[in-house]
Amino acid sequence: MAIVNGKECYFSNYVIFEKVCNNVYVLIHSYLNNIDIVNEDVAKSLTKIKAGNNVDKLDEETFNQLLQKGYLVDDIDKDRERFFKIADKLAQMKNKASSFIFIPSYDCNFSCPYCFEQELTRNKDNKPMSKETVYAIFKVIKKEKADGQYISLSMFGGEPLLKENITINEYIFNNAKKAKLKLDVITNGNDLEHYFKYIKDGVFSQFQITLDGGKEYHNKMKFTKDNKNTFDKILDNIASALSIPGKFSIAIRINTNKDNIDSLLTLKEAFETHGFLKDKRFYFYTKNVDECKCRKSKELSDVDIVHKIRFFDDNMKNMKTNSQFSHIISEFEEIFDTKKKIGRYKVKYCGANRNNQLIDPIGDVYSCLEEVGKKDRRVGFLDMQSSKIVDTPLRKEWRNRLVQNMKECSDCEYALMCGGGCGIAALKYRGSLNKSYCAEMKEIAKEAVYEIVKGLAV
Ligand code: SF4
Ligand code: SF4
Repeated sequence: MAIVNGKECYFSNYVIFEKVCNNVYVLIHSYLNNIDIVNEDVAKSLTKIKAGNNVDKLDEETFNQLLQKGYLVDDIDKDRERFFKIADKLAQMKNKASSFIFIPSYDCNFSCPYCFEQELTRNKDNKPMSKETVYAIFKVIKKEKADGQYISLSMFGGEPLLKENITINEYIFNNAKKAKLKLDVITNGNDLEHYFKYIKDGVFSQFQITLDGGKEYHNKMKFTKDNKNTFDKILDNIASALSIPGKFSIAIRINTNKDNIDSLLTLKEAFETHGFLKDKRFYFYTKNVDECKCRKSKELSDVDIVHKIRFFDDNMKNMKTNSQFSHIISEFEEIFDTKKKIGRYKVKYCGANRNNQLIDPIGDVYSCLEEVGKKDRRVGFLDMQSSKIVDTPLRKEWRNRLVQNMKECSDCEYALMCGGGCGIAALKYRGSLNKSYCAEMKEIAKEAVYEIVKGLAV
């Protein structure tokens, strides 16, 4: 608490307060959606108040405005209550979407040394999903759709688009078509040529394909089980897919670390040579892979990635080539969009604690990609008799992972943009699903705010 002009007040926990440049400071109220620029003098007073120090002479009109806009509050408990009320409302609102993710098989044609699913993909007893299981899943989908849920469909594996699994996949595609739904696929792209027919048929909305850097590095990291290089084949498949007209996109995820960062410009050149960058359906992004921490010495943070690699001269454009930055920038852009009364706020970090239903070949249901195949971590299972998904108690734990339920997040100015961080990382490194996992959220948000406001202020 601080005494300002003789009155008790507090700096709200939910205000982002950053220096942009000389004499320009930004204040963003993260739940009231207020944004203001203040000068150095006001910023000095605010810094004192934030630290709990008294301020004698703050211009009365400015003081009143700071109070009115919620940057300063006279009752810190009421401020928290207001935050909780909004967060609870958001938790109720966002439950209208269900994401069904088919795992048609745990098999994979690649042998990537860092894969977190190695045990599953190398299991000789793997069997693809049966038609009966697909049929039962679509019965669940039909029911949820009729109940007004917004349904999205995806595929994950192992490798979901194996040529060997075309029969079961075709059955999934036909059912999706009947339900008027398209599919997003996370694929390695190696067998994509066997699926061009379905691209032409308009079965897919997006492909996410991972490349591990320039040709040489990629081939060292992503090779087939019989030791063949994959870079040229994947790029040829992408080129052929993009030659097919239609409304779908291809997103390239580049797992980035110290070893491949220097090869990324070569990779961009390869995209240019193939003409990919001229196609609006194509885009690429970098991502550090800190969730697995399996290559710790090689790890580069997302902040370092953005600082070290310049795909584009424009700072903002460059930042948007990193998935974490681009995600946070788009959250801020919504807040800064004056036409919108409320930004795209959220109280949950990712699909894992929303309504992800990753259904594996035997009908076990998981909510996070990193947990598939770990039976004790399933959040449900498909009951074939009733064609219903029966939840395990773990489902509730995931669903309750809300910013308002985690102490650090419920006092954090970034809470409604961040959503509490990755649950799996929290479980692995902080021992509980119900702990926050900030990673670099705050640093990234600071840089994003700086870049956006600099553009507006200069
Ligand atoms: S919990 Fe973490 S690893 Fe799992 S889907 Fe969410 S962000 Fe990804
Ligand atoms: S995870 Fe960290 S940055 Fe995100 S809301 Fe929680 S405390 Fe804030």
